Amino acid sequence: MRTCVGCRSKAHRSDLVRLVVDRRAAAPVVVVDPRAVMPGRGVWLHQRPDCLDRAEARRAITRGLRLTQAVSLDEVRAWFDQHT
Ligand SMILES: [Zn+2]
Repeated sequence: MRTCVGCRSKAHRSDLVRLVVDRRAAAPVVVVDPRAVMPGRGVWLHQRPDCLDRAEARRAITRGLRLTQAVSLDEVRAWFDQHT
């Protein structure tokens, strides 16, 4: 079981999507890891826009990924727009 960083409820990982930091770009960016295979620390989120909104409002993604600076969630938003 994993905890959604948006609504803080527990769910099976198959019901959540994993977010990780992609450090290959010039500036680190948060991306969705749909198959949950990318290395490094990840946070889990329901595939629901309201959970993304709540996680962002609480800065739970930044905190969960141990980021010291704000990073773009544009790619995550775009993915959610396509998949929800
Ligand atoms: Zn949630």
